[in-house]
Amino acid sequence: MARKFLVLGEVRDGSLRNVSFEAIGAAKLAADGGEIVGVLVGDSVQNLGNELIQYGADRVVAVENVQLKQYTSDGFAQALLAVIEQEKPEGIFFGHTALGKDLAPKLAGKLESGLISDVTSIEEEGGNIVFTRPIYSGKAFEKKIVTGGVVFATIRPNNIEPLAKDESRSGDVAALNVDIKDLRTIIKDVVRKASEGVDLSEAKVIIAGGRGVKSEDGFEPLKELAQVLGGAVGASRGACDADYCDYSLQIGQTGKVVTPDLYIACGISGAIQHLAGMSNSKVIVAINKDPEANIFNVADYGIVGDLFEVIPLLTEEFKKLKV
Ligand code: FAD
Repeated sequence: MARKFLVLGEVRDGSLRNVSFEAIGAAKLAADGGEIVGVLVGDSVQNLGNELIQYGADRVVAVENVQLKQYTSDGFAQALLAVIEQEKPEGIFFGHTALGKDLAPKLAGKLESGLISDVTSIEEEGGNIVFTRPIYSGKAFEKKIVTGGVVFATIRPNNIEPLAKDESRSGDVAALNVDIKDLRTIIKDVVRKASEGVDLSEAKVIIAGGRGVKSEDGFEPLKELAQVLGGAVGASRGACDADYCDYSLQIGQTGKVVTPDLYIACGISGAIQHLAGMSNSKVIVAINKDPEANIFNVADYGIVGDLFEVIPLLTEEFKKLKV
């Protein structure tokens, strides 16, 4: 049975986030050959519609309103509810991002529908869409279905492959006017922390440092390796607590959950709370001078040694491969 799904295209700094293309890939798996409608919400976003189509959406609905320039859950919920009312989909997919984690439950609650968050894979089984998500800090996976109502799902970045971009695809990008009113929050200004390079939650390569990095300056070799590999720098809470880096880099149970293709843990012991945020990475490399460190129990490749000797050697070798 063909189904219709909506996918929110999340816009940051004027560009679509990669996880939105992955969410289209997820919706394709769920839609069983049905229609995928991209949704854009903002004050000037309609121009991004074609990119959603090139990644697999059949058509796009864009809600533009000056009141939607900055994300507020009230404003975006009104926009999405209007699109849902018009399109009557079977489900809506979001990225499992700060925005998706805020908006999807709000809408699911308003429509008294089911929500499945942090989805890592989707299959069709006997006519049901079966969603898989990690539980118990990634130690187990559960499979869930939603019966009745609109299915809301947030898709964990870097787990479901996006479709290849096809620049020859075209489709309709239609505007939908929505009267946005009664906003309880007005965002006057957004002041961003200066961040360097690739977004941690969507990075394909992460070089993470722990207390073994020993100082703020100790992160420099990790940054250099990350730059050579086109990756992002992350950290354990040990490193954040010691003030070697900002808490925005923290990975783990109380930090970000990441699933890059390659995770290089440098001077990180492998506490259970850290593993909760990275153990589903595709390939894990651990560098630690203690051969008994717990991180080696989850690592695919282990290097017993001093990170300040090992990382510069790796960086030099990767530089040679790039020439
Ligand atoms: P350590 O455990 O001190 O390990 C440092 C490692 O560096 C050691 O293994 C050492 O052998 C190695 N080392 C030292 N020098 C070198 C060198 N020169 N070269 C190579 N290796 C070297 N932690 C998180 O990471 N994320 C979380 O989200 C998180 N949430 C938590 C939530 C709760 C409720 C609690 C109680 C704790 C949480 N923690 C979290 C903290 C966690 O329990 C650990 O304390 C923390 O992960 C330890 O950080 P670390 O591995 O960097 O430091």
